[in-house]
Amino acid sequence: MPACQPEIFIILIAAMLGACMGSFLNAAAYRSVRNLKWWGSARSKCDNCGRILTPLELIPVFSFIFIKIFHNGRCKSCGAEISARYLFTEILCAAGSALLAYKFNFNLKLLALSLTGFYGAFISSLTDYETGDVFDLFALITGVLGLIIRLSVSLNFLYDGLLGAAVGWAVFAFIILITRGGMGWGDAVFMAGMGAVLGLKFILIAIYLGFMLGGLSAVILLLLKKVKFGRGDTLPLVPYLSAGCFITLLFGEYILEFFNIYIYIK
Ligand SMILES: [Zn+2]
Repeated sequence: MPACQPEIFIILIAAMLGACMGSFLNAAAYRSVRNLKWWGSARSKCDNCGRILTPLELIPVFSFIFIKIFHNGRCKSCGAEISARYLFTEILCAAGSALLAYKFNFNLKLLALSLTGFYGAFISSLTDYETGDVFDLFALITGVLGLIIRLSVSLNFLYDGLLGAAVGWAVFAFIILITRGGMGWGDAVFMAGMGAVLGLKFILIAIYLGFMLGGLSAVILLLLKKVKFGRGDTLPLVPYLSAGCFITLLFGEYILEFFNIYIYIK
């Protein structure tokens, strides 16, 4: 189907929203793992010298490029190098949002639902990657928003979200109980939130894909001798589960179709 004007418009809006959300979620994750307040009066500061950033330094993607060109990628006050983490997360979030907008273009409710899941997965991936902390609050916000959007579609769609949340939680609770703490409860709560967004069948696919990706990476990292398991090195799981969720959001129905499982939305 050739792209028509309104389609491109929605994708562009989503990409811009994604860049802003990437910037916001990055700051929220950064502050959460350091026990800093991330709402209200807290202002964005230079990580090194603590100088409060000017509005011009807070524009997603563009500020980083601007600082790179005119200040050699360094803080104006202390000269500390600005981490590429900001640019990377903003671009990743923008690209993911644009892809979801491309897929759910003509169904704004499904687009809102998928973006809610994407941003929820994004922030929890950042905190888990950095310190291994997975915050229940982020999963809760994701889940509640997901259920509200589902309710706005239909009651059956809401039930599917509730089932997805219950199963997402139960699968991980089961693993935690049989492995006696091989995984954190944060992972279970995270998957409950994602289950509320994805629904029953999609959360099962996402869990499967997440474990496949995580397992594959663990094997590769072991082969490269980057990590030694069993001596305290643990692989953060949430980024892999998130990747599973994202792939499912984009391709879930094709995967179900491949296995001849049919889904009923609405
Ligand atoms: Zn500085």
